[in-house]
Amino acid sequence: MSATDRPVIFRNGLVLTMDDAHTVLPGADVLVVGDRIAEVGVVLAAPDDALEIDATDGILMPGMVDTHRHMWQTAMRGYGADWTLTQYFVWYYLESGKLFRPEDVYAGNLLGAIEAIDAGVTTTVDWSHGLQTPDHADAAVDALEAVPGRFVLAYGNIQQGPWEWAASPEFRDFHRRRIDGGKLAGFQMAFDVTGDPAFPERAAFEVAREVGAAVTTHAGVWGATNDDGIRLMHEGGFMTPSTVYVHAATLTHDSYNRIAATGGSVSVSTESEQSAGQGYPPTWQLRHHDIPVSLSMDTSVWWSGDLFSAMRSTLGADRSREHLEAHAKQDTITHCHLRAEQVVEWATRGGARALGMDSAIGALTPGRQADIVLIKNDASPVMFPILNPHGHVVFQAQRGDVHTVLVGGRVVKRNGHLVDVDLAAARARVASTVDHLRETMGEQAWQRGMNPDVPETAILENPYQYTEWDAGSAQWKH
Ligand SMILES: [Zn+2]
Repeated sequence: MSATDRPVIFRNGLVLTMDDAHTVLPGADVLVVGDRIAEVGVVLAAPDDALEIDATDGILMPGMVDTHRHMWQTAMRGYGADWTLTQYFVWYYLESGKLFRPEDVYAGNLLGAIEAIDAGVTTTVDWSHGLQTPDHADAAVDALEAVPGRFVLAYGNIQQGPWEWAASPEFRDFHRRRIDGGKLAGFQMAFDVTGDPAFPERAAFEVAREVGAAVTTHAGVWGATNDDGIRLMHEGGFMTPSTVYVHAATLTHDSYNRIAATGGSVSVSTESEQSAGQGYPPTWQLRHHDIPVSLSMDTSVWWSGDLFSAMRSTLGADRSREHLEAHAKQDTITHCHLRAEQVVEWATRGGARALGMDSAIGALTPGRQADIVLIKNDASPVMFPILNPHGHVVFQAQRGDVHTVLVGGRVVKRNGHLVDVDLAAARARVASTVDHLRETMGEQAWQRGMNPDVPETAILENPYQYTEWDAGSAQWKH
């Protein structure tokens, strides 16, 4: 990744280093030279030619990491706002997913990648399961390489079994052409394990092992994947520290024990789990198993690629569950277990660790890559006072407050505006994808897809409902 020629110095910010001690430095500077952080401290000396960015009244934090995003689906932004997982599966897996051409994957990835860096998400795993052909895969990578963020391609294809696409010569050829020595930040293989006792996914795990790719898998998804898949993976020796279990929301303690014992991590997509129905966001259970957590946004067909909302909803869901569990026992939670500081850690270091990139990204310490987010918005009444820095990031700040973003020392957003990004071109590409899908599906199917039936709500019997308000006497009539 090419860095700016000039060093960069952020002056006088509140720095959340997210180092091992989670050191917070008020009124501090961060010096970037080349693609790395050179120094963090108070009143640093900087080279004469350094680009100076005033971070006064702002928060400097490491770039955030999203470990699971179906970026190709960004072209359908918001279409599935009222879906459950059932409508999602029908639309993408059974009916319309195959309508996506390579240029449609390109359009979605391009917009998703731009959106990520705009929101301060400097590293994103593209959980790319729409790669029906090598041309689709090339298009996915072309788009990721066109945007100055850090992207990990997680290769998948929902139109075939993983034992089919992973074993194909085309996949090997793609891997040789685009991954070995390519520009991406990493490579994973993305597929799910259905629990079929024959364990056909074994063949794909073997390919992953051969090419040295980590596996990322939707595990513990209500109605789709369960403990059987985990058990088969474990018995096959395919659970490793680099394995990422997405959602892991409907698993038993036995499966969590297997994950914990083999050192893997869980990518929690709280907003997704809450709306779509994979299961309750599992951090309240993962805490008890000491399983490492990273955060993810899943797909923009429902949500945006914004890790502020991931942090906020994850903290809320964990606390909500803790209170509910206690209330069921007539108990009261007086002290929250999960802290804002912890979810900021999950959004930064947690993601870096899950991807095996912890020595390179995830914290603002000398020697690491300069992936830096400045949260600053002088026009906002929500940017002061900043009393609890981690809490401020989680509950007060939002993506519109992302002022400046660096990826590998390169300024990709400054003063609230993306640098060298052609948003108009992305808009045109996405518009043509939407036109293509809408025309191919037909207007009726398009509307039906977006507006699933609303089940009837049963109104409960109410013993008080037969009273009538008498306006004259201003009293209820009995
Ligand atoms: Zn997913």
